[in-house]
This record gives sequence, structure tokens and C-alpha cells, in this order.
Amino acid sequence: MPEMALIGGGVVGISCALALQAEGHQVTVIDPGPVGEGASWASCGCIAVGEIVPLSQPGMLLKVPGLLMNPKAPLTLRPGSALRLAPWFARFVANARPDKMRSIAADLARLTFSATEDFKAQLADIGQPGLLVERPVIKLFDGEEDRAVMSAAFDLARELGCSIEEISGGEAHEMDPALAPDFKFAALLRDWSFVTDPKRLVEVLHGAFLGRGGSVVSGSAVSFDREGRYVKTVTLNDGRVIAADEFVIAAGTRSRDLAAKLDITLRIEGVIGYSTALRNSGVDLSHTVFYATGGFGITPYDGVLAVAGTIEFAGAEAKPNWSRADILVEKAHRVLPGLRTGEAERRFGRRPLTPDTRPIIGRSGRLANVTFATGHGQLGLTLGATTARLVADEIAGRPPRTDIQAFRPDRFGWGPVGRFEQPHLTGPI
Ligand SMILES: Cc1cc2nc3c(=O)[nH]c(=O)nc-3n(C[C@H](O)[C@H](O)[C@H](O)COP(=O)(O)OP(=O)(O)OC[C@H]3O[C@@H](n4cnc5c(N)ncnc54)[C@H](O)[C@@H]3O)c2cc1C
Repeated sequence: MPEMALIGGGVVGISCALALQAEGHQVTVIDPGPVGEGASWASCGCIAVGEIVPLSQPGMLLKVPGLLMNPKAPLTLRPGSALRLAPWFARFVANARPDKMRSIAADLARLTFSATEDFKAQLADIGQPGLLVERPVIKLFDGEEDRAVMSAAFDLARELGCSIEEISGGEAHEMDPALAPDFKFAALLRDWSFVTDPKRLVEVLHGAFLGRGGSVVSGSAVSFDREGRYVKTVTLNDGRVIAADEFVIAAGTRSRDLAAKLDITLRIEGVIGYSTALRNSGVDLSHTVFYATGGFGITPYDGVLAVAGTIEFAGAEAKPNWSRADILVEKAHRVLPGLRTGEAERRFGRRPLTPDTRPIIGRSGRLANVTFATGHGQLGLTLGATTARLVADEIAGRPPRTDIQAFRPDRFGWGPVGRFEQPHLTGPI
């Protein structure tokens, strides 16, 4: 069986590594580490089946000035990055047409509807079924205005097969008494579930991979050697060279820069989100709860309560603006009146988002032995196991169980990356 080099050991990469290993391949994962501290660490932990309506929605262009003006809003565009982000953002806004939104939602529905089954099979395979909690997610709305904003997205999601039940705020409080009793409206997202600890999830996937004879090399991929349509080797930041017959690129937001080294254009931006893990929170919450007005979620992980969310378009290199994490914690008191926030640990992550919100899965027509598994945006945790199944099908030459035409890397065209999107892979990342 061929030697495989897989670049990026986040939740998507390590899931692919395990699936390829199960097919009998000898796989080497390359990642600078530490394991599990990529975007997955900062997530809300949801297996978000039915999170299919893209962020680019009708009226997006009109919202841009507001995004620039209010750094505290749940969705914001950092002014200093606006110029560099312009090429990506223009494509993002171009997807905000009703017909495009609908077609993106239908494509994402096809993927997410098998996510729970794929994820459960993955957990069963590594003997960790307890990492998944199968409980619906509760969404809370302050009033009619918030609910109205959401209702078009709910209608589309329902039409495509999602199970969303509208309940009163009082009923939500009965389900989870830690919640404030005075929310006007709530919704139960019945298809969703959550993991008990996303960092541990990535760690146990790594443990299973190593236990089955896989190897992990600590380092950053910086360049490739090619012969015609075949990549022969990948060079790491410390000069080591790794040869392989097959390459998988699953480096989250950095996949764009690596693809550029292969003259392949991927449109990915790192959209920042924040998470604060609260110890001794004084609150006993049993569901993941999303507060629609605040634009964040609260998930009861093992031993901590994680307050996570916000969408910040700031560019791949931007440093975190921790005040955005603090705002979420402040607003979390509205949801959980008994919340104690004295013991807090803040994290941030960059969601690898494409302008059409679809992940990038499959081979490029340009190269015979390179497969991409990236660009999962808000859905990397949800789609890790599903992506792994599709990547294994692709590399085995089997027809995929889900059509991946809409997710292919070549959909962005083969031109060079834009002037403001030049790769910057020169050393450790
Ligand atoms: C606040 C927040 C909330 C979220 N909530 C959810 C949620 O509820 N549900 C959900 O499904 N998703 C959620 N997400 C999104 C999810 O976390 C991401 O989609 C997912 O983690 C992406 O996984 P990944 O493996 O592609 O990337 P990452 O986890 O970022 O992993 C990429 C890996 O590649 C490595 N790497 C980078 N460059 C190189 C290189 N040159 N060479 C070698 N290795 C390299 C990195 O070290 C890293 O380990 C959330 C994200 C955030 C920030």
C-alpha cells in the first residue's frame, strides 16, 4: 500500500488519517502541534446537523458598513483587514443571493445529514462512544424581532429536512432550569448533539491513530517538489524532506497557502471565534444553548462551561481581540443568571471558511496524488468523520457515498491567488 503524508492533524486531518489507515495505508501526519489546539479547541462542540444556511445571506452588502463600524457586534469585519480581505469578501457577498443560498444549503444538508451516523461510527471504532451527548440544542430569542430574523433560515432548513421545534422560553427553562425564565421564544434543534470535550476528541483520535501504527511528525510543511502531475516530497520548516505516494492537505486555514505552493487557488479565510472555559461556574446546564441575540453558544463540557462564538473577519494573520471573548462572558449572564465567571480560560480559533461556505473535499484535477480536506468553516467538528469517509473513497477510486462535485477544490478556478492573498509560508507557523 502507498505511503501517505497528511498535512494537518486537527479534527479533520486526524479523522482522515484514521480512515485511510483503516484502508491499510501507512500514514504519516505532519503537524507542528500541540495536538488538538487548532480551531477545534475553541469550538462550541456541536455536531451541528442542519447548520446549513450560509452566513452570506441576502442583504449582506448593505450590512458591510455596520460590520465595519461595530467591533462588539456578534459578526464584525476588522477595519484594518478590510483591504486585504476584499477579494475574498467580494466572493462571499456574491453568494448572498437567494438562489445561491438555497443551493449551498441543499449541498450542506446532504453532508450534515450523515454526520451523526459517521461520527458515532468513528467513536465506536476507537472505543469512545461516551464523547458524544445526543441531546437537542436549545436556541433562545429575546423577542419577536430576533425570531423574525431567524425564521427564514428555519423555514429553509425545515424544507430541506431539518427538525426544528419552536417552544416558549418557559418550556426551555423547564428543560434546563439554569436558564433565565423570561426569554420570549426558543427553538429546539432536534438533529444536533454535542461532544463532551473537543480537545480531548482530537487527542483520542490521535491516540488511536498512533496505537494502530501511524506516525506523527512534528513540523510545518512549507513547500513541495513535483514531477509533472505528481507531488514527490514535502519539505518542512526545519529542512526535513518527507517522500510519499499520496498527499492529503488538511491544514485548516493554512491549506490555502500550501495549495498556492502547488499553483492551486483555494479561497479560504480564517474567521476568528472565541471561547472561554469557565470552571466552577455554579451552573448545572445539560444542553448546549445558543443565545441568538448575542451570537454565541454555551456548552457544558466535562468539568467546564464553554462560552463560545462570534464571527470576526480579520485576516489570517490577525491577533485575537480578547475583549470580544469577554463580551460573550458578560452577555452569558443574561442566559444563565446564576453564572460565576471568576475562573476563566480564554481561547480563540480560526474557522477555515470558503466564500461559498462549502468545505473543500477531494482531488484537484491538476495533480494526480493530492487530496484536499479543508475549508469546513463552522462545521469542521461536525463533518470530520464524514469528510474522512469521502476522502477514503476518493483515494480508493470508489464512487463516494455522497456526491462531492460541489465541494471540489477546482471550483475556485486555477488562477493565481490575488495580490493581497499571497502565501506566507516561510517558517514555523
Ligand atoms: C468559536 C468557534 C466555535 C465553533 N463551533 C463549532 C461547532 O459547534 N461545531 C463544528 O462543527 N464546528 C465548530 N467550529 C469550527 C471548527 O472548530 C473548525 O471547522 C474545525 O476545527 C476545523 O478543523 P480543521 O482540522 O480543518 O482545522 P484545525 O483544527 O485548525 O487544524 C488544522 C491543523 O493543521 C495544522 N497546520 C497548519 N499549518 C500547517 C502546516 N504548514 N504544516 C502542517 N500542519 C499545519 C495546525 O497546527 C492544526 O493542527 C467552531 C469554531 C470556532 C472558532
